[in-house]
This record gives sequence, structure tokens and C-alpha cells, in this order.
Amino acid sequence: MNKDNNLKKIDRENHIYDYAIFGGGVVGTAIMNKLTRMKKNVILIEKAEDVCTGASKANSAIVHAGFDAESGTLKAKLNIRGNKLIRKLCKELDVPFQETGAVVVGNDLNKIQTLYNRGLTNGIKSCDLKILNQKEIMDLVPNLRKDIKYALLAKTSGIINIFMFTIALAEEAVINGADFRFSYNTTNIDYKDNIFVISNGKEIINAKKIINCAGAGYNDIAKLLQTEQYELTFRRGEYFVLDKEVNNFVKLTVFPLPTNKGKGILATPTTDGNILLGPTSTECLKPETIVTSDGLKEIKENISLLFENPPFDKAIREYSGIRVGCGKDFIIQHSKINPNVINICGINSPGLTASPAIAELVCEMEKIEEIEKTMKKRYSYNSIATKTNEEIDNLIKKEKKYGKIICNCEMVSLQEILNAIHSPLRPHTLDGVKRRVRSTAGHCQGGFCTLKVAHIISNELNIPLNQILKENAKSFLTTQ
Ligand SMILES: Cc1cc2nc3c(=O)[nH]c(=O)nc-3n(C[C@H](O)[C@H](O)[C@H](O)COP(=O)(O)OP(=O)(O)OC[C@H]3O[C@@H](n4cnc5c(N)ncnc54)[C@H](O)[C@@H]3O)c2cc1C
Repeated sequence: MNKDNNLKKIDRENHIYDYAIFGGGVVGTAIMNKLTRMKKNVILIEKAEDVCTGASKANSAIVHAGFDAESGTLKAKLNIRGNKLIRKLCKELDVPFQETGAVVVGNDLNKIQTLYNRGLTNGIKSCDLKILNQKEIMDLVPNLRKDIKYALLAKTSGIINIFMFTIALAEEAVINGADFRFSYNTTNIDYKDNIFVISNGKEIINAKKIINCAGAGYNDIAKLLQTEQYELTFRRGEYFVLDKEVNNFVKLTVFPLPTNKGKGILATPTTDGNILLGPTSTECLKPETIVTSDGLKEIKENISLLFENPPFDKAIREYSGIRVGCGKDFIIQHSKINPNVINICGINSPGLTASPAIAELVCEMEKIEEIEKTMKKRYSYNSIATKTNEEIDNLIKKEKKYGKIICNCEMVSLQEILNAIHSPLRPHTLDGVKRRVRSTAGHCQGGFCTLKVAHIISNELNIPLNQILKENAKSFLTTQ
């Protein structure tokens, strides 16, 4: 196992973390946050340049109510628990969450009744589920096709700003003592005297326990640990993002009836005021986030079966995310080979909803006593787009840079971008800043402000402009 013999000698006096967590998606950051709250000394190790760059950045951002997952599974149990926990966390972390509700619409009343019954079995309260008649559906979704007769309403379904949720979980942990490494490409993990010695060939990290929640990269870490590897499957989900101009297209999530491919192609609002149409569900060999003309055609065909005149001409962007599967249920267990490793694998939908419950389960598995430390609060970046004129005036009185708008589409000021760049995780990519303050996320998709933001990052962090990345390694914005 020990390939890095020429490294600086391992100094046992070096810091030894209680836990090293592999993977900075919503699952890894939820665990990082929870363990920090439980007074554990934690480091998050992420291969990419920032948190929230895997499946967690590219999904429907729905906090599912819990009627979809098969009863008795971990998915069902953690979905219901996560739906409760996530609201409290969003309040504490100042992350946008809206309980919009969701409807599943269709003409097969038996299937709707099955979902209703499953919801009750899974633990949703009967007052939070209702089968609607056609008039009730049309009141909620006026542009639905008139030939749709039935719907199940799940009142506790919601939408969340998934970028900010993941980022805020990590930020709060870091403010309260947790550590992190980005762009850390692990090449070796040794296990000696009950300590894991992790290396990327340049820096060594010591930890007593490891949590492997590296998503599509799970097996890479398992291989280094010589712990259980699983056969992973990948399913791509493609989307359209619609302009805020059509933000009244749907006010709540509208699902079709589920099929054997999943929850189906849906329409949902986002907490930022856009509409998402998607996702497709296409098996693929590699976790590649491409967008295809076939995928976009499939979205249009399926959305047209649900709605009258969908405004496809208002699409401002397309994206895709990869569902990483491993059998029918989540795998969350101690390794049988080394019980100081926790294997977390196959966290596809409803993984975002379940993430705080997964973190709670990890603490239970580790028999960590529920004593939360008093956490220092994380602060948001003061989005002026969400403030009243009076509040904006007050901010500008304190700091003039709140009055200098860099991204006109999303009304993002210079000061917000500076707040993001100097925030606890120190993002240094264009997309890292975008996910925090929405610069380049608007109607023009960065046509006007990309270079301005790149210059600000370059000046603030002293990185040459030609080294500024869009998102991942080598995604340079300018020619080299
Ligand atoms: C199309 C789609 C729609 C979805 N919709 C919803 C929804 O509406 N609601 C819901 O609840 N769930 C939804 N999900 C599921 C949800 O997005 C995932 O369950 C969740 O994001 C998984 O989080 P994660 O942290 O396990 O994985 P990821 O976010 O993929 O994080 C894994 C991280 O590990 C890192 N990594 C990989 N290899 C290594 C390595 N060697 N070393 C260090 N780090 C490494 C990656 O860079 C990545 O950041 C959807 C998923 C998809 C794809």
C-alpha cells in the first residue's frame, strides 16, 4: 500500500483527526457539520476545487416528502427524517428553503392511491397528504393539461438552495474548528497503529477513522483503503433551466406518475425564482455530465404531456447530473474489513433530502453522545437582490461597494462577490463564486460579467487571470 516512500517522514506528533471524510458533496458536508457539532475534530478531503461539485450541484433541489421510496428501506426512513431535520438546519444556517408542496399528477387513480398509502406507511402524517380532484388540481396548477384528472398533493415537499445548503454546512463546520482540503488527490492510504495515514504525495493527513462518501469516486477510496468495493451504476439526468421571467409557470413541484426509471420528468420552481424542467434518466457507463439533443427532446416531449404551452423558448441553460446507484437502497455501514471505516455508497435520490439524517445515523453508528457544542454562527453574503431599498441604502452607507453592481441580471454587487471570495472556504473559481452569490447565473449566463468576476478573483487572491478556473482543474477561462 505504501507507494509514497520518499515523502517527509510521518511525524506521529502531527495532528491526528478523529475523522477524515472523503467527498465534499451534501452528504460529506452534512456529516462534517454534525460531527463538528458533536465536538469531533474533523477534516473534509475533496478531490475537486470546492464543495458541491458532484451530484449535489446538479439535481432537482427538492426536499422530498417521502412517499416515493419503497417502504422499509433506509431511503424511506432517512427521507422522512431528513425532511424534518433539513428545515431546522436551513433556519440555523440561513439557507433558503420553501415548503412549496408537490403534486404527482396522472389519470391512474390506483397508482395515486398506492403512492398515498406508501406515504402513510413511510411516516407522512395523513393531514399532509391529499388526493385531489380535477378542480382542486387546476386551482393549484392552472396550466396543467385539462385531460389530467387526479393528483396526490404532498404538503411537506419543499425546495432548497442546494448549493448554499452544502456550502453553509461546511462553512459552519470550518468556523467551528473543522478543517478541509480541496484539490487533494489521494494516492495512498496506510493503516498503522490504528491510524490512517492519508497522502497525496505532497501532504500527509492522519485520522483515527475514515468516512468514505466520495459519490462516484467511492471505489477509488475503497481501493486505497482495501475495503469493500461495489458495482456502481450511473444514470444521467438532464435539465432545462427557465428564465425568471416565467417564474409563475409552476409554484410547486409537479411530478408525473413514477415509472421503473424513477420519479419522471418534472417541473419545479427553484428558491432563486427559476424553473427546472427535467431530469431524464439515461443509463451511462461513465459519470459524464453531458447534455444531449436526445435528452432535451425527451424533456420537451414529456413536459408537453403535462402542461399546456410550456415556455421552452425561455430556457437559459441546460445541465446534467449523475445519479450514482448501488443496488436498490443506500449503503451506510461500517466496513467489515476495517470497522474504523464507514462505507457510504449509492446515495442517489433522495440523498439530498436524507443528508442530515445520514449524518445523524453516522453519529448513532459511532455511538457519539448527543451533546452539541455551542456553534459560532455563519453569516450569509448579504444578497442585495433579496433586500428592500431601505436595507440596500443602509448597506451602501456602511460599504459603498454594495452599490457597485457587477452582475446586472442577478443584481450582484461587488461587495457580495468580495464577501464570497473571502468566506471560510475561500472559493477561487468562477462557479464557486456563482454558487454563493449568483453572479453569471442570470439571463445572460455570464455573457457580460464573467470577465469582471474573473478579474475580481484574480486581484483578490493574487492568481494570474489566465489561471482562473471556471470550475474544475484545467477549466481555464482564457487561453494559456
Ligand atoms: C439528476 C438528479 C436529480 C436529483 N434530484 C434530487 C432531489 O430533488 N432531491 C433529493 O433529495 N435528491 C436528489 N438527487 C440525489 C442527490 O443529488 C444525491 O443523492 C446527493 O447529491 C449525493 O450527495 P453525495 O455527497 O453523496 O455525492 P456528491 O455530491 O457526488 O459528492 C461526492 C464528492 O466526492 C468527491 N470525490 C470523488 N472522488 C473523490 C476522491 N477520490 N477523493 C475526495 N473526494 C472525491 C466528488 O468530487 C464529490 O464532490 C438527485 C440526483 C440527481 C443526479
